[in-house]
Amino acid sequence: MNKKTVRDLTDADLRGRRALVRVDFNVPLDDERRVTDDTRIRAALPTIEQLASRGARVVLLSHLGRPKGKPEAEFSLEPVGRRLAELLPGRAVRFVASTVGPEAVAATRALADGDVLLLENTRFLAGEEKNDDGVARALAELGDLFVNDAFGAAHRAHSSTAGVATHLRPAVAGLLMEKELEYLGGALAKPKRPFVAVLGGSKISGKIDVIEQLLPKVDALLVGGAMACTFYEAMGLETGKSLVEPDRIDMARELLDRAGSRLILPHDATVAPSMDAGDRARTVRRDAIPADEAMFDIGHETAASYGRAITSARTVIWNGPMGVFEKPPFDAGTLAVARAMAEATGKGATTIVGGGDSAAAVAQAGLESRMSHVSTGGGASLEFLEGKALPGVEALDERGGK
Ligand code: ADP
Ligand code: MG
Repeated sequence: MNKKTVRDLTDADLRGRRALVRVDFNVPLDDERRVTDDTRIRAALPTIEQLASRGARVVLLSHLGRPKGKPEAEFSLEPVGRRLAELLPGRAVRFVASTVGPEAVAATRALADGDVLLLENTRFLAGEEKNDDGVARALAELGDLFVNDAFGAAHRAHSSTAGVATHLRPAVAGLLMEKELEYLGGALAKPKRPFVAVLGGSKISGKIDVIEQLLPKVDALLVGGAMACTFYEAMGLETGKSLVEPDRIDMARELLDRAGSRLILPHDATVAPSMDAGDRARTVRRDAIPADEAMFDIGHETAASYGRAITSARTVIWNGPMGVFEKPPFDAGTLAVARAMAEATGKGATTIVGGGDSAAAVAQAGLESRMSHVSTGGGASLEFLEGKALPGVEALDERGGK
């Protein structure tokens, strides 16, 4: 990677200094405001632990939810601070209910080496999401160096992800950020072959740029999800009541013409009269989708052939479920992909899952630990795969420079 990381910093850079760390603690909370899934908090622990154990005073910044530029109690990070304290039993972990200003700065100055402080939601600040320079300057007062470990927010140019780095150096990547960029970037730059991409989900419109970017690089691009139906429509097939994007049919036709044999569509489909009629689900050939039913999953044969393509690949990138995996039996295709990826990992392949719902499906199947990498950033991983520069990464120091 061409960006500096925390591992490039010396102990002298860290000891006794305030490391301002942007993390992605945008976690789900229940009605009692308890954290229901702490995956993102745990994903930041290696960076926090590395900084703290090397004597830094760790100051954490994150957003949570979508408050509108002012404090809103329901979006306070306070419950996240409590969970963080449980996950760091040996450390003093504090929370302060302000993000910038005298109280926040005083709290950072009161830390001892190895202590951890979580500040309040960055989106309580008007200007944060506009990458306001005043906000960036105020944030820069909170630390002596900047670490960005919030891969999930790196596609946003906000004051706490990009702007702050213009006022606070060194500005380096955290360990999670580094891992994300190494896996995603490595797969795109020098994939072990065969390189197979699996794309699904509900809408083709959100994934067109990824298809364009991946097609010239992959050996095969396997399509699933409702997205397949827009391609079927372009091929003149009956799609019944399936989810189709009528305004994307021409584009799908054009892609099919251009892609050749690397773009692979499901040859059978699991259909039903409605999403709630799983008991009436059956697999039909793709040219036999009934006019009054809809495709809710790839068919059994397709699941098996996609599985074979995946287990014989050496690099696999997956984004988007193959069907309505939230509702069995329409989870079968998605599970088949997840299991095949786990098997491929066991055989030495590099397997990468990007996308919030795909990651949820993998977790649901209990196969997280059997993937090489499950990205913590849905939107960010998608933009990275589209070949876009991520502002939160661009802002960091170059290796061997600055
Ligand atoms: P990710 O978050 O992994 O990028 P997406 O958000 O693009 O995935 O798509 C996930 C959604 O797509 C799921 O809610 C799933 O139910 C839906 N989906 C997949 N296949 C179909 C289908 N055939 N018909 C309707 N919805 C589908
Ligand atoms: Mg999604």
